[in-house]
Amino acid sequence: MSSGMVSLVLPSGRSRAAWEATRAAIADYLRLAGFEHEFIACSSDEFGPSLRRAVLDARGSVILILDPDLPYPTSTIGDAVAMIESGVTDIVFAVRSGGREPFLSFCLRHLLVPILPDRALQLKAFSSAAARLVLGETRLADSRCALEAAFLANKYGFRVEQLAVDGVPPELPRSYGRLAALGASLRIRWHERNNQYRPGRRCPVCFSTEVWSSAQLSGNIVRACSRCKCRFLARFVEDDDTHPVRRVLKAHAPALEVEESHSATARERTSLRRLAGLRPQLPARARILEVGVRDGSFATAASREYEYVGIDPASSVVRAARARELEVYCATLANFVNIGPAFDAVVLFHVLENMPDPHDSLARIKDLLKPGGLLLLTAFDTEGIVYLSTERKRMARNFRTHLILYSRSALIELLERSGFELISIGPDLEYRDRKFLRHQAGRSSLFAMLIQAGLSILPDPLLVGSGSMRIVARRRSGPTGNVRAIRSVEPTHAR
Ligand SMILES: [Zn+2]
Repeated sequence: MSSGMVSLVLPSGRSRAAWEATRAAIADYLRLAGFEHEFIACSSDEFGPSLRRAVLDARGSVILILDPDLPYPTSTIGDAVAMIESGVTDIVFAVRSGGREPFLSFCLRHLLVPILPDRALQLKAFSSAAARLVLGETRLADSRCALEAAFLANKYGFRVEQLAVDGVPPELPRSYGRLAALGASLRIRWHERNNQYRPGRRCPVCFSTEVWSSAQLSGNIVRACSRCKCRFLARFVEDDDTHPVRRVLKAHAPALEVEESHSATARERTSLRRLAGLRPQLPARARILEVGVRDGSFATAASREYEYVGIDPASSVVRAARARELEVYCATLANFVNIGPAFDAVVLFHVLENMPDPHDSLARIKDLLKPGGLLLLTAFDTEGIVYLSTERKRMARNFRTHLILYSRSALIELLERSGFELISIGPDLEYRDRKFLRHQAGRSSLFAMLIQAGLSILPDPLLVGSGSMRIVARRRSGPTGNVRAIRSVEPTHAR
């Protein structure tokens, strides 16, 4: 593979002479755009096998499949190449701007995946890695393997974008009929059921291969595990040690984000409530470790009664906390060294979701705790009604700092396997001030106006459910299930 080179695959079915005009036009365009290129003509046997052979022969970093008649301007090819080369996406499907087929799309989306290729346009662009894996795994022999490619792109977690193409004649011949498309999607599902494709990447929580792309974010994909109902990012940030738990240190004071804009009073009351929940199960003068200190409201409350230690990888947070005489260290869970006795309790408020490997993190927490020590954690619940009803709208915000969102059942299983026994699990209620709730309710509809009116007579701040769960678990003293043994055999997050 050479960088900056474009491999153009010419499907079979046209005479060499008929291709010449198309080839010349594309070659001129790519030369002007500054791309090296090569043409790979498919042999005249069946479409699928010849395409797979062509992809193996291709040397470019971008692989394009062309249409025999070139029914679009050559600049469309440039757009598709640019989308791949810029790293925005791995795969581009060209679709006609007016080519809507609502009923068929509905059926195919339901049977296969949300992003489908156009039946009348062959034009598709792949990064070379995506082409080798996705096209190389296809099984169907004719042009319907385009549907298979869309299915496999989703299965293997590649980012897919659609490129709307203008100026295409409305009556382009379709490469396969409606019934053939439905038949193909059933065959694809059948192949999948019989494990005839390479297994996809595993879920980082339960190691299942039943993992699907559920949403496309800018520069990343949210994957969903259908076994444990967790959601996680397809690509985690590499240099995790320097990644702050909550905020990035910036030269100028950051504008307060909506999520954190509730008042200091509300945050303090939430922290007091969390501490009150923990108090009955803690001995007097207990030693507490908080992972992810953030604004330090829990630290302030806890250090009045208990021996408090906090860790946070963001140096700005640590400086602010130390200025208030709190014992806070700039460290991550992985590199924190406890020089005192083991802790009676470890608390994490929406922090486990930022950790790329929950099994290692929980093993580390277990090592820091005394036998019988408590773990208190809060996290979003992906099986909860609040999360599910706001999932589409808040996807980008939920994954701004979080890497993995857990379901209630997955977190219970994870804790049980990591050597904890569950004491209680319930909704995590937080105080929110009226201003924040008004912002959430919006202003436009009549319903929102009723909420606004109702809010003004309620106390401020108000205790509300935020779709999070609050789990208290106790460190078991017996041996744990050897989860890391599974990990050593089968990598979870390598493609
Ligand atoms: Zn899972």
